Amino acid sequence: MKASQFFISTLKEAPSDAEVVSHKLMMRAGFIKRLGAGIYNYMPMGLRVIRKVEAIVREEMNRAGGVELLMPVVQPAELWQETGRFDKMGPELMRVKDRHDRDFIIQPTSEEVVTDIARQELRSYKQLPKNFYHIQTKFRDERRPRFGIMRGREFTMKDAYSFDRDAAGAAKTYEAMFAAYKRIFDRFGLEYRAVAADTGAIGGDLSHEFQVIAETGEDAIVYCPTSDYAANIELAEAVSLLAERAPAAQALVNTPTPGKATCADVAQLLGLPLSRTIKSLVLATDELDEAGDIVKSTVWLLLLRGDHSMNEIKVGKIEGLKAGFRFATLAEIEDHFGSKPGYLGPIGLKKPVKVVADRTVVNMSDWVCGANLEDFHYTGVNWGRDLPEPDLVADIRNVVEGDPSPDGQGVLAIQRGIEVGHIFYLGTKYSKVMNATFLDENGKPAFMEMGCYGIGVTRIVGAAIEQNHDARGIVWPDALAPFTVVICPIGYDRSADVKAAADALHDELQAAGIDVMLDDRGERPGAMFADWELIGVPHRVVISDRGLKEGKVEYQGRRDEAATSMAACGIAAELK
Ligand code: ATP
Ligand code: MG
Ligand code: MG
Ligand code: MG
Repeated sequence: MKASQFFISTLKEAPSDAEVVSHKLMMRAGFIKRLGAGIYNYMPMGLRVIRKVEAIVREEMNRAGGVELLMPVVQPAELWQETGRFDKMGPELMRVKDRHDRDFIIQPTSEEVVTDIARQELRSYKQLPKNFYHIQTKFRDERRPRFGIMRGREFTMKDAYSFDRDAAGAAKTYEAMFAAYKRIFDRFGLEYRAVAADTGAIGGDLSHEFQVIAETGEDAIVYCPTSDYAANIELAEAVSLLAERAPAAQALVNTPTPGKATCADVAQLLGLPLSRTIKSLVLATDELDEAGDIVKSTVWLLLLRGDHSMNEIKVGKIEGLKAGFRFATLAEIEDHFGSKPGYLGPIGLKKPVKVVADRTVVNMSDWVCGANLEDFHYTGVNWGRDLPEPDLVADIRNVVEGDPSPDGQGVLAIQRGIEVGHIFYLGTKYSKVMNATFLDENGKPAFMEMGCYGIGVTRIVGAAIEQNHDARGIVWPDALAPFTVVICPIGYDRSADVKAAADALHDELQAAGIDVMLDDRGERPGAMFADWELIGVPHRVVISDRGLKEGKVEYQGRRDEAATSMAACGIAAELK
């Protein structure tokens, strides 16, 4: 590829709305261009990276037995009404109407459509297992789109859906997908961690997230460095959501019928995406006197039942609630619930919660829900009155690092991560409501056992940059780079020798299947180098008359401090 035929558009300054480094660098390097909130053009340079991500994902999905298809972006509402998600999903689900006033949705995920395919096409046990996947545009009307394409409203996801004859088969498929995900993230060359996760709005029993480690990550991961233990504390989103929704929560607190509120009430009032991130809340409300001093505090507990099928919540004690909404302090929680540790059983913890000292230790070996824990971490923060921005990192670090790991194998550490993949064992959740059955060996109908497996293709581009950049720009791992090698000729338009050498190297590398870029724009060296360092091409070869006279070119890896002089005749072999 020659630069003159391609499209390169770099900026000195990032737009002011870019908060994180990946967003800034993607804008400056001309990878993306904003069209609206959370909606971006993928520009030629950025698209090349996206295609690299897709290619690796596709290869490994195929290797693991996935079968690619493509399901529509716009989907009839009927299917979504069948599972109830049309109503349950809340404002993140983009609903549209056609000219006949019929309802449609723009897919945020595709369980309904794929289950509809399966119930029509997969009739016999002989056709199972099957694992369908696609790499398709998604739309989620995110409450707060930000960080460029890392939390866009329109984005690309690889989503796979497996159908098995029985739970044992589904468990094997889940393991195979887990292994495929590890291969995928290994190949990207990123530092990541697989963590136990909340099953949230998708539902089901077993779930893992793949988190790219980065300080700017919205998620917090608690892990044990000396064992395999790792889990997500779905934190940032829940906390900012609650902070934002505190006034609405106040209204909930004032519901006239303590002990009874529907899940829909909570979803509506708190604006929660149902139980996605929050399964239980331990809150306190304060009664104030005229001077604004607290005269009485009441601790109350909201239990949002674990899976998406939940349709009820139990509201704990609510009384005398006049003003103020905040998380309960640990002392209050201890006071209120400490004497009955089994109380938290129904929200999905297999073992009781034990409150100790200034932090909560959840005694469980099979922790599937991080959200429960977080409720307790966020004690003593008063968002009811002035809603300060919580300092998430500091808070969780204070609270949990050094705690004993639930598996007894060491102590816990905390890291921030970016959720780039998420796999779920779904069981018969969708097949039951949509009546997706097959005939088993005895000719009897049985519900298909399902799993679903997502990868945020476009988010990975941002996550990779969060992890790999320096003061000059992006530093791509080879596997994801838009171009692997850039040839920078000095005087391409002036020197026949330089032109000949640059063209020859370009052609040879291209013939060898290497993504090579020849910068023939005639930019001055400084500007040319700065562009490619910003764009993050991992390998650079500089060809000049001066070097050629001695039979040399200059090679510099993107992480290298300085260039190395190399034999011009050997450079192609070196790069292959
Ligand atoms: P998050 O917690 O970040 O909102 P999620 O849990 O809602 O993500 P899933 O439903 O698990 O997302 O979707 C699978 C994958 O799709 C995620 O792991 C993530 O990589 C990607 N993804 C989800 N939402 C977005 C978004 N708004 N922009 C880009 N990628 C996204
Ligand atoms: Mg989400
Ligand atoms: Mg998530
Ligand atoms: Mg997820």
